[in-house]
Amino acid sequence: MRFQTSLLAAASLSATLIGAPAMAEEQAALNGEVNVYSYRQPFLIQPMFDTFTRETGVKVNVVFANKGLVERLKQEGVNSPADLIFTVDIGRLDDAYAGGVTQPVSTPVLTSAIPQDFRQNDGHWYGLTQRARIVYASKDRVPPSEAPKTYEELADPKWKGRICTRSGTHVYQVALTAAMIAHHGEEKAEEWLRGLKANLARKPQGNDRAQVKAIKEGECDISIGNNYYFGAMLQNEEQFEWAQSVYPVFPTIAGEGTHVNISGMALTRSAPNRDNAVKLMEFLAGDLAQQMYAEQNFEYPIVAGVPRSGLVRSMGEFEADTLDLDEVAANRSAAVKLVNKVGYND
Ligand code: FE
Repeated sequence: MRFQTSLLAAASLSATLIGAPAMAEEQAALNGEVNVYSYRQPFLIQPMFDTFTRETGVKVNVVFANKGLVERLKQEGVNSPADLIFTVDIGRLDDAYAGGVTQPVSTPVLTSAIPQDFRQNDGHWYGLTQRARIVYASKDRVPPSEAPKTYEELADPKWKGRICTRSGTHVYQVALTAAMIAHHGEEKAEEWLRGLKANLARKPQGNDRAQVKAIKEGECDISIGNNYYFGAMLQNEEQFEWAQSVYPVFPTIAGEGTHVNISGMALTRSAPNRDNAVKLMEFLAGDLAQQMYAEQNFEYPIVAGVPRSGLVRSMGEFEADTLDLDEVAANRSAAVKLVNKVGYND
């Protein structure tokens, strides 16, 4: 029962797969269907897969899970039915690569569309969308002239008791701290993290949106969160007011630019339907899919020249930090150590 899945995942699987997994897999292999393991929610990726199927006749089956997909790929080994894995954050892409469940792939279409900074050197993973980790500031209590212009400034005592963030060990926060280490070295990064910790209004808790809610409720004045949650909150009846209480700020790190991360895809080591999986990868690197994907989640397309959604444009222009994501990945474990050392979550 390789395709034993959550209800949510089951909803996006074909009826045959649910009914008779083993047989369906065999059939999938024969038909050249592409099987995707996804940490990304189905509604974000399904529209592109549907378009791909319409254009090529190749069916795409998605298994969605919140966690454990890399472990599952390891367990399944060469017998895994999965061709592709979809996830967010350089950390998780790097985990898949380091876990040995991916294989390198390089085609002219992929390497010409996706900039080198946003793919693993040998092609073990490719970025598909870009997100910025920004600051949300209270409209009522933080005049734009006082909003932080740098991440470094978040450690300034002027923000004492005014900042909310999620857990320091969450992949998003780890990446930001890792970028701080890559830019400034461990010693300065530790000082920064201690300063940020000292400025927190409360113990780290909740997700990125919960911090904006806390601003709305007056618990803090600024928070750190990914850019696309602004759009997501505006589209949510309950969270609309949270988003309305803040405005987005794009700080720079080391004077370079705003800290960015990616979502991406990797070809699995087993990939029974490699050819069609690569076809799908190339499709997703194309302008149409790039625009669809970025719009669906209020992210930034990774391929140059693909337009941003109106709402994302309205949040403002920014320069992205030019730091290589491989360097962020390389400093992740050092970042986690720092988070624990300064007792960030205590
Ligand atoms: Fe997220």
